Amino acid sequence: MALIVHKYGGTSMGSTERIRNVARRVAKWHAAGHQIVVVPSAMSGETNRLLGLAREITDRPDPRELDMIASTGEQVAVGLLALALAAEGIPARSYAGWQVAVRTDSAYTKARIEGIDHKRVTRDLDAGKVVVITGFQGVDDEGHITTLGRGGSDTSAVAIAAALKAAECLIYTDVDGVYTTDPRIVPEARRLKVVSFEEMLEMASLGSKILQIRSVEFAGKYRVPTRVLSSLTDPLMPLDEEMRSGTLITFEEDEHMEQAVISGIAFNRDEAKITILGVPDRPGIAYQILGPIADANIDVDMIIQNQAVGGTTDFSFTVHRSEFKKALEVIDAEVKGKIGAREIGSDEKVCKVSAVGIGMRSHVGIASLMFRTLSEEGINIQMISTSEIKISVIIDDKYMELAVRALHKAFDLEHAG
Ligand code: ADP
Ligand code: ASP
Ligand code: MG
Repeated sequence: MALIVHKYGGTSMGSTERIRNVARRVAKWHAAGHQIVVVPSAMSGETNRLLGLAREITDRPDPRELDMIASTGEQVAVGLLALALAAEGIPARSYAGWQVAVRTDSAYTKARIEGIDHKRVTRDLDAGKVVVITGFQGVDDEGHITTLGRGGSDTSAVAIAAALKAAECLIYTDVDGVYTTDPRIVPEARRLKVVSFEEMLEMASLGSKILQIRSVEFAGKYRVPTRVLSSLTDPLMPLDEEMRSGTLITFEEDEHMEQAVISGIAFNRDEAKITILGVPDRPGIAYQILGPIADANIDVDMIIQNQAVGGTTDFSFTVHRSEFKKALEVIDAEVKGKIGAREIGSDEKVCKVSAVGIGMRSHVGIASLMFRTLSEEGINIQMISTSEIKISVIIDDKYMELAVRALHKAFDLEHAG
């Protein structure tokens, strides 16, 4: 008997029929003698709908109220799933994040989990119940409801698995594992049987929507065995077959059987670029520009500063598109005049495309193949950043799909492994 956490995403919870299927699958695991905690997302489209309602009221919603609104999607989902489990004859109990409690900081709309009190969960499990806990939401020290950022149910599930020292965290979704790139963009993409923790971390941080980055961080920090698999298979398929399906995140490099140089292509459409032209070239400038941005709690992604010509230089950085307006306001109000910059430029239509692979450590020529491929497609590279196991470029977002397909082919990802 093992304690196992299941997470079901929005599509997997997308209708009452799908919720019944989730209940059937969970009932199968429970009947095999396992203790099961289920962490569902809101039904697909629901979080967008709720946030859309808020935007109909105001285009400057208070983030605290946004969390109050958005968190309700998951609350409906846990209640429905508990009912569906009961209908399968399984004793089940649902909890909202604050009831558990999933404790977070107070950064509304992107809160971080600080701890999980799991006494009542353990008590219910020991009494033979399946426990259903809302994904995506938590509670801060003052009792305010918080949410963990879009896609945050992944993080809820892995964090709960870590706190309960679960044997496995199974992330059930609408694809049957982690692919070499999003199979919706490149139909030839190939499923990886295993992916190293480091590669998964890079892929998630570079925009692969399959897992929220913080869930991968938790999996790494607490060594939670985590598997991504499909919720759309027959819910009654044999357990051992199910346990071998999907993609396992591995922590040991030598377990990484698929030694392709590049494991995947990630992309992120949510980037926006701000350029400050005619910046005086003197010590402290980067701090004067990015300090106020950090104080406004805006995450900066890529940064580029050109060589100074005639005592001035240009400075560009990218932020998440949802924080673009706020970042521009900060630069206009607190930076431009103060540093004596000539002009502010901006581009909301950029995206980031990245090649990821631990094989890059021991292979040369990856960057040049990437740049050659993009140049052959006539795609202009606006910014570049590299790490030991990834190369990212910022390009015009109208070329995103073309770039992803071309790179997937150039690195021979449909055949590797
Ligand atoms: P869920 O609602 O289950 O959390 P998401 O929509 O958040 O599901 O994530 C699953 C989606 O991630 C897939 O439908 C797929 O389009 C997308 N995706 C992006 N990159 C990848 C990848 N490398 N492998 C598999 N799926 C990917
Ligand atoms: N429902 C939330 C969202 O749509 C959380 C999640 O699905 O993981 O972002
Ligand atoms: Mg998701």
